[in-house]
Amino acid sequence: MKLDVAFSDAHSHSNPVHGVGAKVIARKFKEKGGWFIALVSLSPWSYGIESPGYESYIKAITVHRRECDDAAGERLNVACFSGFHPADVDRLIDKYKVPGESVLELGLKVIEYIGGLCRDRVLSGIGEVGRQHYKTSPERVVIAELILEKALEYLVDYDCIIQMHLEHTGPITVELVDRVAKRVNLRGRHMKRLIFHHSKPVTSLEAYKRGYSSTIPGTSRLLRYAFTTMDPFYMVESDYIDDPHRPGVVAYPWAVVDEQVELYREGVVDEEYLHKINIDNVVRVFEVEYG
Ligand SMILES: [Zn+2]
Ligand SMILES: [Zn+2]
Repeated sequence: MKLDVAFSDAHSHSNPVHGVGAKVIARKFKEKGGWFIALVSLSPWSYGIESPGYESYIKAITVHRRECDDAAGERLNVACFSGFHPADVDRLIDKYKVPGESVLELGLKVIEYIGGLCRDRVLSGIGEVGRQHYKTSPERVVIAELILEKALEYLVDYDCIIQMHLEHTGPITVELVDRVAKRVNLRGRHMKRLIFHHSKPVTSLEAYKRGYSSTIPGTSRLLRYAFTTMDPFYMVESDYIDDPHRPGVVAYPWAVVDEQVELYREGVVDEEYLHKINIDNVVRVFEVEYG
């Protein structure tokens, strides 16, 4: 049986300095049947920009924008994101010895710049922002939270889609975000534009119940679980890091396609389900056109 579905990757990275870069990623992904990719920028030092200030972030955003253009040049539909990753808070304090208050100031300034770019439709939105998923100091979590809350205001004001990186505590993670969202008056079609990236199924379900979106890592184990227990309300991501020197959860965007095709062959999932998570949900959340 021939599977007639185009695939998407709702959260991925590219690194033109240490990795293969967006052009190669886009080409390979498209060959495998990819039609859409959300490309999320990396921190300045990932591109070899080693000074910790505002200008470094602007440079990193410029590098990333070029990456998005390269991917779009391969006739892939691209959503382009830049942010201030919660782990940057720790890195700036630990490695670069920036005081906490200055990190907060820097983060807010960077987010303001990105907000302007998405208001002008140069970027699709802000990501990653959120909270650390590992143990760190309370001060640093608060800094990350304040930056996230500013980003949420830009979703309301400028329609910036937000890719959130959060701790994995399930429903209470969603509860806190929901309270902040209500406080900044997030509602209507803006709600689906708030994405819980790297969600566990339980977080994804809770987000869905409250009107938000989520992406699930496209590993074989998680996809099998999601396909057999969840309705197709979420999207799939690779969170590909494009850096051979950085270990971690690394799935190639095209490997995520392979996993889905394999599960289809096994009869675990049908074409309609794959169509919903790879096309319908992406069109609805990112407001892009398919075909
Ligand atoms: Zn993340
Ligand atoms: Zn990521």
